Amino acid sequence: MLPPLPIDPSQMLIAGAWRPAAQTLPLTNPSTGEQIGAIARGQAADIDAAVSAAHAARDGDWGRMTAAERGRILLRLSALVAAHEDLLTEVEALDVGKPLTQARADARALARYCEFYGGAADKVHGATIPYLDGYTVYTLREPHGVTGHIVPWNYPMQIIGRSVGAALAMGNACVLKPAEDACVTALLFAHLAQEAGLPPGALNVVPGLGAEAGAALSAHPGIQHISFTGSVATGAAVQIAAGANVVPVTLELGGKSPQIVFDDADLDAALPFLVNAGLQNAGQTCSASSRILVQRGVYDTVAHRMAEAYRAKRIGPADTDPDIGPLINARQKERVLGFLDHAADLPLLAQAVPGNVPEGGHYVPACLYGPVPPQHRLAQDEVFGPVQVMIPFDTEDEALRIANGTEYGLVASIWTDSGARQMRMAKGLRSGQIFINNYGAGGGVELPFGGIGKSGHGREKGFEALYGFSTLKTVAAKHG
Ligand code: NAD
Repeated sequence: MLPPLPIDPSQMLIAGAWRPAAQTLPLTNPSTGEQIGAIARGQAADIDAAVSAAHAARDGDWGRMTAAERGRILLRLSALVAAHEDLLTEVEALDVGKPLTQARADARALARYCEFYGGAADKVHGATIPYLDGYTVYTLREPHGVTGHIVPWNYPMQIIGRSVGAALAMGNACVLKPAEDACVTALLFAHLAQEAGLPPGALNVVPGLGAEAGAALSAHPGIQHISFTGSVATGAAVQIAAGANVVPVTLELGGKSPQIVFDDADLDAALPFLVNAGLQNAGQTCSASSRILVQRGVYDTVAHRMAEAYRAKRIGPADTDPDIGPLINARQKERVLGFLDHAADLPLLAQAVPGNVPEGGHYVPACLYGPVPPQHRLAQDEVFGPVQVMIPFDTEDEALRIANGTEYGLVASIWTDSGARQMRMAKGLRSGQIFINNYGAGGGVELPFGGIGKSGHGREKGFEALYGFSTLKTVAAKHG
């Protein structure tokens, strides 16, 4: 069961007031499949009310606040999130099936996002521009107004931190539609934001189904920017709906992110990253490293060592803090098992199988395949489960061709001692983020993040997000 909460998780937050929804959806624990509560099934009318409340906040106290005051609220919120880290961790493990250590890391990241954007709120500004004699020209950096945030279930706290945190820092009022499978920490975050002094309507949370609340938010003419994280198909639908109102959209979608290991790599340093970047959060990570490209001279060694690491992985319920927890729901389990069926023709190098796990939980084995042809479906499509493929290569050019040979471009990493090769590869890889001799660099909030191709467009995290959640007004004054 859920621990005692300061809010009722079946309610929505609109205009600073907690309201019940006309209907609810079941809240289930992915580790057991058991229903542990209910969440609101928000509808178009609720989204409409939330958008109106956000506009009222923009026109009222929130819109009049200085950047420094907004920053202070976010800093207070960061401290409150940190103070509630245990509760957020426990709830995320129950609601999302995230192993405790990984859930705790997300709670800490949420506090850090609020800290970073709290500190940055009053440090983003326009510029003066030298122009014709007799003119003074300057730019004003202003919030979009009301921003919509559609968030998936895989990293709710991190994604809320990076998108809502940055949007609030710039002075936007937000309407947040968390995923139907993972909205309790979003509601707790909103409660803490109220405690931190965020005025009513500056953050509204309407849980519900994608096809209902999500679609209503995407198509709402009162929204001035949408931040979407999730699948390619849904992202495209959101962009089309928002496009009808000429609303800009940031899309953070999927990936098929490669790690490229050259003969001269430090394998001891690489090994944990090669495996864990694929299996973290049971592979349900947009930046999961699902392709491991290895130069032929070290292929057998790397394959052997990765296989050993796979066999040592423990799969189990989130509250036992395993290496790999359950998938989020039965649909994702079926989807991943479908991929495994499709991989029946591939050499299975190693797997970790769920041990003694609750029958109703959504567990799948973790599977490492290799060698896998680069064009195989398992080497092209995002599985979103604990599955990695190994692909051997001979030359740098070949590695680049294979790495760039999918529709995606989110993250890539290069493992080599050669500085010149690091530079050539970093330049040649089509990817939003490149890591050299590491993967993820600890996920720092400072690092701009986003994709190219079907991985999406726009950047979140770092200062880039503050530019993304604002617009620039040019003022040209003629004074003779
Ligand atoms: P999804 O894209 O359908 O859901 C993400 C969010 O969008 C949720 O809040 C959902 O309610 C909302 N949504 C769904 N349909 C909508 C619509 N028509 N209009 C507006 N919003 C809508 O993802 P999913 O079905 O939960 O997962 C399926 C696949 O998506 C996964 O297998 C994975 O490939 C991908 N995914 C990627 C990420 C990522 O971080 N890149 C995260 C989650 C899922």
